[in-house]
Amino acid sequence: MQRYFVAADQFGEAEVRITGEDAHHALRVMRTKAGDKLIVSDGAGRTALVCVREAQSEVVADVVEWLGGKSEPKWNITIAQSLPKGDKMELVVQKGTEIGAFAFAPFQSERMIVQYDGKKEAKRIERWGKIAKEAAEQSHRSRIPEIGAVRTWRELLALIGSVDLALLCYEREGHAAHGRGIAKAVRQWNASRQHADAPPPNVLLIVGPEGGFTEREAEEAEAAGALLVGLGNRILRTETAGIVGLTCLLYESGEMEGE
Ligand code: SAH
Repeated sequence: MQRYFVAADQFGEAEVRITGEDAHHALRVMRTKAGDKLIVSDGAGRTALVCVREAQSEVVADVVEWLGGKSEPKWNITIAQSLPKGDKMELVVQKGTEIGAFAFAPFQSERMIVQYDGKKEAKRIERWGKIAKEAAEQSHRSRIPEIGAVRTWRELLALIGSVDLALLCYEREGHAAHGRGIAKAVRQWNASRQHADAPPPNVLLIVGPEGGFTEREAEEAEAAGALLVGLGNRILRTETAGIVGLTCLLYESGEMEGE
């Protein structure tokens, strides 16, 4: 069944309105007509099965049934990604959204290879947002991950202090084997927190740029409260590390257990 995200103000208790590009897609591409059923989300976790009532220049549809939000993970995992070269961030956003990232927090760090261009920032964030929306629709999520503004290293350190668990992926200059593995770190943390009805934890997974983190950055992140963790005994590319780390975290959170 076709899925759409609509803005919260177009999503009433009984009726939803699909406008703009999505309306064009529904009407012209999918040839949606009155009586058709669609699945619509507000991008913030509410999803409903709706039945189309009007299909003219916009689509207006009645809510038939609210759907339980099974597609959202139990942990809110944000990938903090040091800006990579070219369009690699698009891959991180697309795959991270499919797998179940809660949000993305791009940031600047010392050994970044890309030249950060503040002027292009708004356009890039808009593009990443579009990729997140499309990936969320495609992977049947009820939430579109948020893309944060590009943070400075200082701002990232502040973010570390505000979450329940921050993990900095650190390959220690090619000696991944010497670091504590992400699975062990997460298992120890998970065993120590209050369980059962605890609200979903906010977890930050921090990935360095092509050139890696400097020792000083690793120390500063640790001082701010992050745990340094390894992702296995091979060196992963920056765009691979977040995807792998996210998958490990979801596995440890019980996401892959089934019902
Ligand atoms: N400094 C390295 C490459 C960095 S890899 C070099 O040039 O040899 C890019 C980022 O991916 C790292 O900063 C780290 O955050 C993450 N990463 C890659 N492989 C990793 C591993 N085995 N363990 C932990 N983090 C890893």
